[in-house]
Amino acid sequence: MKIEDKLYLDRFKPDEQSHLIIIDQEKCRTTCVAQNRPCTHFCPAQVYKWEEDKITVAFEGCLECGACRIGCPFSNIDWRYPRGGFGVQYKFG
Ligand code: SF4
Ligand code: SF4
Repeated sequence: MKIEDKLYLDRFKPDEQSHLIIIDQEKCRTTCVAQNRPCTHFCPAQVYKWEEDKITVAFEGCLECGACRIGCPFSNIDWRYPRGGFGVQYKFG
């Protein structure tokens, strides 16, 4: 079974508010260009996307793996777990 198929088995109960906050969009827009905006590559759920002139955060699909907590070279992501009762529900397949 491919990883994409396994991820499809997961279920999500998204909160209304994001648990992942970009602290400084200007840093993404300018300083991080030289780093090739790694959050758009390392996130297994493709939560971060560069759209027009800013990073968008599709927090609803977050797998809570914690990679962005350490992967952003500028510590520019305020990472938290979702509030209790919300977030990913893993199923094994
Ligand atoms: S890796 Fe960090 S600084 Fe770079 S684009 Fe993503 S959030 Fe912004
Ligand atoms: S915690 Fe993992 S899945 Fe969630 S946004 Fe960060 S890298 Fe992506």
